[in-house]
Amino acid sequence: MSGVLADRPLESLRGVGPKLAQKLRDYGVGQVEDLLFHLPLRYQDRTRVTPIAALQAQVEAVVEGEVRAADIVFGRRRSLVARLQDGSGTVTLRFFHFTAAQKNNLKPGARLRCFGAPRRGRGGLEIYHPEYRHCEPGESAVEERLTPIYPTTDGIGQAQWRKLCSQALALLASARPLDLLPARYNQGFDLVAALHYLHTPPPDAPLQLLQEGRHPAQLRLALEELAAHHLALLRLRRQQQSVSAPALPRRQAAHRDLLRALPFKPTAAQQRVMGEIAADLAQRTPMLRLLQGDVGSGKTLVAADAALQAISNGYQVAVMAPTEILAEQHRQNFATWLAPLGIAPAVLTGRSKGKARRETLAALAGGDTRLLIGTHALFQADVVFHRLGLVIVDEQHRFGVHQRLALTEKADAASGRPHQLVMTATPIPRTLSMVAYADLDCSVIDELPPGRQAVTTVLIDAARRDQVVARVATACAEGRQAYWVCTLVEESDVLQAQAAESTAAELAEALPALRIGLIHGRLPARDKEAVMAAFKAGELSLLVATTVIEVGVDVPNASLMVIENPERLGLAQLHQLRGRVGRGSAASHCVLLYQSPLSQQGKRRLTAMRESNDGFYIAEQDLALRGPGEVLGTRQTGDMNFRIADLTLHDDLLEQARETGELIAENPLAEEQLVRRWTGEKQRFASV
Ligand code: ADP
Ligand code: MG
Repeated sequence: MSGVLADRPLESLRGVGPKLAQKLRDYGVGQVEDLLFHLPLRYQDRTRVTPIAALQAQVEAVVEGEVRAADIVFGRRRSLVARLQDGSGTVTLRFFHFTAAQKNNLKPGARLRCFGAPRRGRGGLEIYHPEYRHCEPGESAVEERLTPIYPTTDGIGQAQWRKLCSQALALLASARPLDLLPARYNQGFDLVAALHYLHTPPPDAPLQLLQEGRHPAQLRLALEELAAHHLALLRLRRQQQSVSAPALPRRQAAHRDLLRALPFKPTAAQQRVMGEIAADLAQRTPMLRLLQGDVGSGKTLVAADAALQAISNGYQVAVMAPTEILAEQHRQNFATWLAPLGIAPAVLTGRSKGKARRETLAALAGGDTRLLIGTHALFQADVVFHRLGLVIVDEQHRFGVHQRLALTEKADAASGRPHQLVMTATPIPRTLSMVAYADLDCSVIDELPPGRQAVTTVLIDAARRDQVVARVATACAEGRQAYWVCTLVEESDVLQAQAAESTAAELAEALPALRIGLIHGRLPARDKEAVMAAFKAGELSLLVATTVIEVGVDVPNASLMVIENPERLGLAQLHQLRGRVGRGSAASHCVLLYQSPLSQQGKRRLTAMRESNDGFYIAEQDLALRGPGEVLGTRQTGDMNFRIADLTLHDDLLEQARETGELIAENPLAEEQLVRRWTGEKQRFASV
């Protein structure tokens, strides 16, 4: 915003001292301009006086009348009760907390104007703790505009917000801010008009529409914000690609050797995607590619092929996985496929310690290790690469943009920017990927390996748990393997581990003939590995687990999964879990052992699981039912952090936002301003 508002400090406003300014900054309002975009959550209508007889329960209103009686009533709780009457009727005002002065003021005959939402009481409508003041008969002066209610934090009151925001709005008159949106996209509101409207709507404003976030003034701002985010990602992409990467052309012989040694033939989709990646890697422009493919579609092989291409050009590859279990599994897979070609992967996790860790790091820095697989531990400062050419991030939804970039920064200056391959098994609805992944090209594996059986999903009430236990017994007796997944709402590892432990003990008692394993996040990594290895080798028939097995775990002989309390999980997570079965040739089943009664939403979610095995369909449902935060993972949405736009409400604006963004981008100065206006602080990561 140009002129008066640009970088204007908060302290320049009336009533803002250092203390309030600090509070505002802590809350994320850093300068005057931010106040303009601090929009009300809802509005109160204090623009007219409602006759008492017309009051409705739960609907806030202004009433005016005369106090008829005021008494302290000793009911279950002591309260001060006043009866307020106008020509049309009477309403009760009730105060549970009051001062002696208040009681003296509410004398019969006093004239009051009150505001509040009535509720139904025994003797008609009552307003608890109304705002009120004394007034004169015939006094007009109700508010002229709807009263905004702002989102707030401890220690900043509504009156304060109103004063601050109205000062900021007043400054707009002389600020002449740049309206960056082409007129035909502005829904009838230029920027200033939209801001004025939303901070102080006129009395006839459609409250319902505002509440739903669908008022044209809101849509106009949301569109601008979405366009800004889209552009911010494209800038990020340009910045990433402003540094060149090593050109790593495919070495045909190595590629052929890899495929020849496989016990299966890659699907057409895998081959196509491997081709796309191979072509990217051959360029001097850093690859920025998102690989999407449903659970079990075979992304790991594609990653291994990419790794091979980089390594056979003399460069290093880092593979980052969200859990130790998955990192270990990747190590095994990559080793199986690449060891015959002379490539031995090393692993680095939080558990790597002491001498072993030092040796791993030395081999990496010296260039002997060509392929390093690990968890967040890869970010540690002393992890130094030697010619890092490719970064592969598996299950991207577990990481944020910053983390991905932090890893690419580990490349030494001489080798340039590494190529990036980002893989996700949580398919991203197209609309979402436009704002969340606009910086990435996208490849999709839209085909599962042949012979995969669709997993049959059934919903069973926890009251019939015994039948499910019997079913596990039967499946295992037939030589198949099963998972029993315990879920808890609490994030606490300890509680989750306890729940899994007690379930395992219970099942061991009910199924004495079975060999049962237990895995959860609290186990030492070595034990986790041992349990997974035993399960994979078929030495255990039943694996009781927490959601640690959610991603990546691959044991084809497991064909039954029981998920306890599935109603607690999101669809994407359930789909991930369910993807652990149906990997072999046996018909597979997933039992959702729910706790009744199910909420409407819970019912819809579980039904969607029963009806579909298609990750893309399920992701769309998840988006509709739970919103983008759940679909993308909190990290990602945290990165986005919209002020006005809400992807659930405004997904229909995304296409327009992209168009708008493209138009604005034709003017680099406008683009810069737009991105700064909406994404401000967060742009820091873009400067890496
Ligand atoms: P995801 O895409 O979920 O990461 P994985 O890469 O773990 O899937 O692959 C799942 C399983 O399918 C693995 O056991 C893998 O070896 C196997 N697989 C991969 N591609 C094929 C294929 N074309 N034909 C048969 N099996 C395959
Ligand atoms: Mg995978």
